[in-house]
Amino acid sequence: MHLNKKVTLSSLALAAVMIAVLIVVSLLSFRQFSIMSAQSQVRTAAEIVRVSLTEDMINGVIGQREGLLRRLGEVPGLQSVHVTRGDNVVQQFGPGMKGEHAADDVETRVLQNGEAFFAVLDESTEPVFRGTIPFVASRSGTPNCLQCHDVADGAVLGAVTVTMSIGHLKDDALFVSAIMVLAVAFFMMLMLFLLRRLVKPMITTAQDVQDAVSHAIRGDFHANIQQRTNDEIGQVAQDVNKLMRFLHKGLSEIRQDIAQLLKHKPPEQDGNLLDTTVEMVQGLIDAAQFKQSIEEDESKTEIYQRLALAVRERFGLSHFSLYEVQANKNLMVPVTVDGEFGAPCRWCDPQILLRSETCRARRTGHLIDSIETPTICFAFRPPQDGGEYHHVCFPIMQSGAVGGVLQLMFATSDTARMQEIIPYLSVYLREAAPVLEAKRLMDTLRESTLRDAMTGLHNRRFLEEYTETLVSATQRRKSEMSILMLDLDYFKMVNDTHGHDAGDTVLKAIAKVMTQSVRTSDMVIRYGGEEFLIILQDTDSEGAALAAEKIRAAVEALKIQLTGTILQKTISIGISVFPTDGDTFWQVVKYADVALYNAKESGRNRVVRFTPELWTDEKTY
Ligand code: GH3
Ligand code: MG
Ligand code: MG
Repeated sequence: MHLNKKVTLSSLALAAVMIAVLIVVSLLSFRQFSIMSAQSQVRTAAEIVRVSLTEDMINGVIGQREGLLRRLGEVPGLQSVHVTRGDNVVQQFGPGMKGEHAADDVETRVLQNGEAFFAVLDESTEPVFRGTIPFVASRSGTPNCLQCHDVADGAVLGAVTVTMSIGHLKDDALFVSAIMVLAVAFFMMLMLFLLRRLVKPMITTAQDVQDAVSHAIRGDFHANIQQRTNDEIGQVAQDVNKLMRFLHKGLSEIRQDIAQLLKHKPPEQDGNLLDTTVEMVQGLIDAAQFKQSIEEDESKTEIYQRLALAVRERFGLSHFSLYEVQANKNLMVPVTVDGEFGAPCRWCDPQILLRSETCRARRTGHLIDSIETPTICFAFRPPQDGGEYHHVCFPIMQSGAVGGVLQLMFATSDTARMQEIIPYLSVYLREAAPVLEAKRLMDTLRESTLRDAMTGLHNRRFLEEYTETLVSATQRRKSEMSILMLDLDYFKMVNDTHGHDAGDTVLKAIAKVMTQSVRTSDMVIRYGGEEFLIILQDTDSEGAALAAEKIRAAVEALKIQLTGTILQKTISIGISVFPTDGDTFWQVVKYADVALYNAKESGRNRVVRFTPELWTDEKTY
């Protein structure tokens, strides 16, 4: 219910109750007053009758009392006066005049108990007041009643009954009550009028505040409430205006700041300012949390997985490709396509993989967006299902170059939603870029510690780190792996004859030949100065012997060009097999070394398969 209506209704109810109470109270008071007044008048009339009768008695004209009583009955207001003679007076002086006996029970009772009786008769129409007053004999009165009356002091000599109309008093009471009611009604109306005048600015301001708040809930903080009074209500209007301005300014500034962070113009403010600001802040919080998560990720792969998850779950995209750029090789490698890791290139011409510059985002380092220019990139390959598709490709910048590309593909009907998402996804990628770069550097650094700089082969440390993986993989597959231990024959002579640099050239050439002679899944390790170790996975001793022979022959056949001469070298190879020869990997390596020693011993440029007999004479090693 509106405040205005409430004030009116409650004032009217209050007025009605007040008037009712006033009427009841005033009528009761008037009735009481009328009775008291009538009693007093009756007593006065009775006293006059008593005095007159006494005088008549003294003057000996008591017999003429009838005239007096009749005249008294004619006094305005009095209706009748009736005198009753008590039994003791009747006994002493006779029955008196006609009609002086007790007229009713009341008079009989009053004569008996000497107590006055008063009552209002016929209250409904024309109210009449009746009083019956006893005449009591008194010695102390003037004259002394006992001089004439032969009675005891205090005896009831008679009584007088007076009736009088009190109708005029009732009319007066009603009239005064009516005046009072009118006065009260008038003042109540006046009060209501004043109250409404006072309440009106309060109500209007409250309505304005209500309006302003409901606009604010819808994100519109432009309210300007009129200040109608200079009291607390006016202050409320002023404060609400101030609050709205503060919120509008605060939220607008937050939006501007976020827009700057997003590098994106904020959406027009016809929407819900509060909702969109909360959304923007939430977007940044999500991006910050994403960054925190990827910073703690162990590898680049984990980061890519988390990024793909965010694209799918947070941004609700099912078609996207994430490429890693291998700048030195001018290649692009698909990391994940539609969230599927290791999947082939799906939404681009596969030539971008080999010639990365054909990817426009990779080449320009700019966001490539087919929403603005539909044919912006010719490498885009949308699905051939009759639908219309857009693509947006984000370059992932690392050290000023494009280190990766995220391509989004979506139906044109999804464009509006995508345009909202793009700035936030850009933030995710901006956050991911330095972390990816750090991981890439770490990987490179790590890779460099696991490789020999001169030959490019893995080093002994690599072998130590990967032993466990190799062994458990072999055991899991219930397979075998062969270990070749290789050492160049008379290598010292090369250094001695042609110099150390020539020795290095020979080492590099032979390392290359060894790598080319084995499968890509095999590992060629520079184990020592001119000692190498080759691990042939899933290869038994026969296979290992063939591979070793192939290497030996290739080295023997290799003609190494040195300044001014061509050099040919041979190599000796020892073979052992894990787990056939021994339970532990390093034990089996040792056996390969034993076999190599045997190859050297037995003339060099040969392959020797380890046998337990070779191990018996321990002091040889
Ligand atoms: P063999 O193995 O047939 O018994 O004779 P060897 O002359 O090859 O003897 P050994 O295996 O002991 O020779 C090791 C030599 O390899 C010693 C060292 O000068 C040389 N060497 C080790 N590492 C390098 C390297 O990185 N560069 C060059 N130029 N020489 C190296
Ligand atoms: Mg050696
Ligand atoms: Mg040697």
